[in-house]
Amino acid sequence: MMATPAYPRTVPVGRLAPSPTGAQHVGNARTYLLAWLSIRSRGGRVLLRIEDIDSPRIKPWATQQAIDDLAWLGLDWDEGPDLGGPHGPYIQTERLASYTEALQRLQAMEAVYPCRCTRADVAAAASAPHVGQEGPVYPGTCAGRTANDARDLAGQPYCWRFRTAGTVDEFADGILGDRVCDVGRDLGDFVVWKTDGGPAYQLAVVLDDQAMGVTEVCRGDDLLPSAHRQRLLYRAFGWTPPEFVHVPLVVGPDGRRLAKRHGDTRIALLRERGVPAERLIGFLAWSCGLRPTREPIAARRLLPDFDIRTVPAEPFVMADADWKWLLRPAAET
Ligand code: GLU
Repeated sequence: MMATPAYPRTVPVGRLAPSPTGAQHVGNARTYLLAWLSIRSRGGRVLLRIEDIDSPRIKPWATQQAIDDLAWLGLDWDEGPDLGGPHGPYIQTERLASYTEALQRLQAMEAVYPCRCTRADVAAAASAPHVGQEGPVYPGTCAGRTANDARDLAGQPYCWRFRTAGTVDEFADGILGDRVCDVGRDLGDFVVWKTDGGPAYQLAVVLDDQAMGVTEVCRGDDLLPSAHRQRLLYRAFGWTPPEFVHVPLVVGPDGRRLAKRHGDTRIALLRERGVPAERLIGFLAWSCGLRPTREPIAARRLLPDFDIRTVPAEPFVMADADWKWLLRPAAET
């Protein structure tokens, strides 16, 4: 059904997958840097994919800003919406036909069922569930339905949920180590197709990573539960899942994920202020244990002795003083 990846799995392939729902922040920069280093340090290929299926939340300016941010950071990619490539299109809203086809496959194997329950998580399913957005475990109210029961629901709103009952998933995360999850009990049946008729994040990301030949998914550790869900989808389709590397988040002094309440931490702000990218990269490299000091450095200079195992498995606390240090005039070293 899917286009097969154009490269053998022996070539590491990673992706940078921004959602243009807003500005990219310093926490995103840290994850993008590690994702890029992990692949490039092994001579692999990096692709850029724009995850824009969450239509009400998409900001028209955010795609170009994310591309400009990544380029400013000194990260590059081999395939993407700007460059083209053998696995395009690289914008999720241009890949809807493949998601529809995948849903039909899941229906044919009774791996999904139509669900009438109206809950906030059904509405929110187009976006990756970040910290605090996981919501309660779905109790399985509609799990007795079969795929064909959807015919009786014509004209009524319903979503499609993936069955997880009795499934336990286990994998070794590149930073967090061995992870085990009783998916049926702790995460529950999750939405793969939304009530409004569009794909959910969980389905789209698996379809794209598979079709694009991605061998390593490196992203923030608030998506760790989603790795278990996604691995179940790989299993259902009969595909080998990629390696997963979940990067601990950057948090504010209050221990919460960096957000507006912590002030303006946009990468674009640093660019606007004329801060040299090397200053941010040096800071991030130090925060990841890649360098002993915060000395400015270009991303590519971190490649020769990069080792993902040096990255601490705990969140990195960013203090106000760190912002001031980053934002000081460029001439001050
Ligand atoms: N596009 C998602 C985000 O920016 C990332 C999803 C992923 O890496 O799987 O939150």
